[in-house]
Amino acid sequence: MTADATDVVEHRRLIIAGTGISGLSAAIYAARSNNDPLIFEGDEPGGQLTLTTDVENYPGFPEGISGPELITNMKKQAQKFGAETKNGIIESVTPVGEGADRTFRVELKNGDVYTSDAFIAASGASARTLDIPGQEELMGYGLSTCATCDGAFFRDEKIMVIGGGDAAMEEANFLTKFASTVYIVHRREEFRAEDVWIDRTMEKVEAGEIELMLNTEAIELHGSKEDGMQSVTLVRHPEGHPTEKLDDPETEEFDFDVGAVFYAIGHTPNTEYLNELDVETDEEGYIITEGGRGAGQTKTGVDGLFAAGDVVDFHYQQAVTAGGMGSKAAIDADDYLEELDRARAAASAAEPATAESDD
Ligand SMILES: Cc1cc2nc3c(=O)[nH]c(=O)nc-3n(C[C@H](O)[C@H](O)[C@H](O)COP(=O)(O)OP(=O)(O)OC[C@H]3O[C@@H](n4cnc5c(N)ncnc54)[C@H](O)[C@@H]3O)c2cc1C
Repeated sequence: MTADATDVVEHRRLIIAGTGISGLSAAIYAARSNNDPLIFEGDEPGGQLTLTTDVENYPGFPEGISGPELITNMKKQAQKFGAETKNGIIESVTPVGEGADRTFRVELKNGDVYTSDAFIAASGASARTLDIPGQEELMGYGLSTCATCDGAFFRDEKIMVIGGGDAAMEEANFLTKFASTVYIVHRREEFRAEDVWIDRTMEKVEAGEIELMLNTEAIELHGSKEDGMQSVTLVRHPEGHPTEKLDDPETEEFDFDVGAVFYAIGHTPNTEYLNELDVETDEEGYIITEGGRGAGQTKTGVDGLFAAGDVVDFHYQQAVTAGGMGSKAAIDADDYLEELDRARAAASAAEPATAESDD
């Protein structure tokens, strides 16, 4: 594949995938370094923070700030320094050319093609699902992956939250605003969440607003588009992970009536558009960057490709850490682009001399 100049809408020094907090932090830094960044929004403009109402742990906002407001402010800040944001989902990124002439060909789903000298992948992660019977039919009809978006539809209903990490605790606590009772279904005995979230959840358990269903997993969802979620088939084993022990006589199976189910079982990193670059990922698809100490922590194994935020970070997955990593990616990209400028200047300075010696 070549970046035929005729089909290219525009060439930029730097293209960034994603307007979540990591992409926008990268954009602020890159714009202030005169790297003229173009940022594509993807299918979730503003990223995951637009799905949450209160962000209480982002430094600098003692009273908290809403996720959408934080993102809007950051977008304005990036644009103030010259960053450009565009609607568009990136379909593929391919390298074109060699050495100092190498560029990235960035093709959007609508067929538009851009090129860039450097690229920052800040494409975050998408909510994971269980892939059990009933899921496809009921998604959006009683099954959801976003409590803040859909919780209010299920006032006074029994609501089930599936998961055992921070997201599950946060979603369950939030859903107590609407639910008659929230049931947390978790496949193990212990939660993998921050202490503050476990403490808040246990307070609600004591108040009777949340019930815990531990060592339990959902295996089927029942309902219809017309009637919504009706019930869930669950399995329970005293030692946890019951779906791995379905034939064990200690595994019990039972149906439980609920009005809604929310998945809160983690995320899958959005990296499909990078398949043609052969960028190294871990077994779950998170991009592997240099990491460690000193400069170049956001470099990937592909020259000129940097990555930041939840698409890399499977562990911290926080606004402040994603933003911090975005700023590092912009600084690393700036170092790369400066070196590229020097290499190109040296190559063009060498050209006339070569031409003369040919005469
Ligand atoms: C409900 C909820 C509440 C949360 N609350 C908090 C909180 O209170 N405090 C906190 O610190 N963290 C919170 N988080 C976590 C925080 O939102 C994430 O860690 C953070 O948003 C990650 O930022 P990111 O920029 O890496 O990725 P994301 O926010 O996931 O953004 C990814 C961006 O990439 C774009 N994209 C994806 N694929 C493509 C493509 N092919 N082409 C172009 N663009 C693409 C998307 O459209 C999106 O704009 C919460 C998360 C959720 C879901």
